Amino acid sequence: MNVAVIGGGAAGFFASISVKQHHPNARVVLFEKSTKVLSKVKVSGGGRCNVTHSCFDNNVLANNYPRGGRFLKKAFHQFGVNETIDWFGERNVVLKTEKDNRVFPITDSSQTIVDCLIQEFEKLGCILNTKSASTAIERNKDQFQLTINDQKMLFEKVIVATGGSPKKEGFEWLRKLGHKIELPVPSLFTFNMPKNSVSELMGTVAPEARVRLQGGKLESAGPVLITHWGMSGPAVLKLSAFGARELAERNYHFSILISWLAAHSEEEVRELIKSHSTSNRLAQISNFRNEQIPKRLWMYLITKVGIPLDKRWVDVSKKELNKIVNVLCNDSYDVRGKTTFKEEFVTCGGISLNEVNHQTMESKVVAGLYFSGEVLDIDGVTGGFNFQAAWTTGFIAGKLN
Ligand SMILES: Cc1cc2nc3c(=O)[nH]c(=O)nc-3n(C[C@H](O)[C@H](O)[C@H](O)COP(=O)(O)OP(=O)(O)OC[C@H]3O[C@@H](n4cnc5c(N)ncnc54)[C@H](O)[C@@H]3O)c2cc1C
Repeated sequence: MNVAVIGGGAAGFFASISVKQHHPNARVVLFEKSTKVLSKVKVSGGGRCNVTHSCFDNNVLANNYPRGGRFLKKAFHQFGVNETIDWFGERNVVLKTEKDNRVFPITDSSQTIVDCLIQEFEKLGCILNTKSASTAIERNKDQFQLTINDQKMLFEKVIVATGGSPKKEGFEWLRKLGHKIELPVPSLFTFNMPKNSVSELMGTVAPEARVRLQGGKLESAGPVLITHWGMSGPAVLKLSAFGARELAERNYHFSILISWLAAHSEEEVRELIKSHSTSNRLAQISNFRNEQIPKRLWMYLITKVGIPLDKRWVDVSKKELNKIVNVLCNDSYDVRGKTTFKEEFVTCGGISLNEVNHQTMESKVVAGLYFSGEVLDIDGVTGGFNFQAAWTTGFIAGKLN
């Protein structure tokens, strides 16, 4: 059996290896358009490669994918996080789990993962062709005719693992096969707030915030990092991923409301401030201490609502107290534009999942054609979820069921 794999990234390598594991006699040829393979793996996770996420409940795991979660939930049963850890372990790659459950090679070097994939690929006898761009696939009786650098080649099965594309034109050759393409838009970006004085707090982290989109239902909780251009951190990135389409439709002009004490309701925050005020009557308002609100942020918020920092709690009026509660629970910011999160950037959109069988990754439109990785309309939040999707879909596609 002649099998072509198109795309030399994480998904393409994993799919090629899986083909040889399941069909040792198959001839597997991987076509990569550039001169280098696995280039995203190499730069991933700040050069450390966040391979997966230590989450063994497939329902919980699936919640980390703004697109494709339901599709993957069923696929994880075949190859999930446990299988990923075992797969690398069996090839002498020891993985470690960090406090936030992200999983990295113990070497802290993405090269370990690159080397492992290349060694396995070569050991199993897969063939690599770089500088080989696929521009067309045609179904030719019971075979596929691939156009690689203007040359026609025949294969019985084809696995497409060409990754995401920021422009819909990048999917045109796949659309021609009859596949519906979900419009690509960026996911995982940070919020720009030009000329907003909050940027003076750059480097400040509020560990337990909640960010809500004003005039929408989207919200996400977690740490917020204030940067010199606006806001970043897990809560912001998560909101950008789950809101990728909605925020693109708003042309990245929108307002957010931040609750800086996400663990507390507005009433609880009111009680907290009142009780602090009662027990610190003669202290200056600037002296408020709370683990969730860094001192610089507190001073900024108080100044923002127009209360002098040297005011004593006993002199704070009811109206001022309301203002404090409001800025802690509903602090409003205008977002004007986005900045791509360089640590982990993915595209939302791609091959519509309605036309792909989740048990096999085979196209429901063209028999014998399979998909794996980010070319599918699947993307996760940060934390190793995107590679897990590549391993899962690559492994299953390679079974060629
Ligand atoms: C800077 C950065 C850091 C990241 N860090 C992490 C991380 O730590 N953890 C995590 O889970 N995710 C991370 N991600 C996301 C993750 O890298 C991707 O989700 C993953 O690489 C997708 O794998 P893929 O094989 O589907 O696509 P890709 O890695 O994009 O590979 C596709 C390959 O196909 C080739 N190709 C495209 N079109 C053609 C064609 N027509 N013919 C031949 N070849 C073609 C491309 O050149 C490319 O080599 C990161 C992303 C970036 C950009």
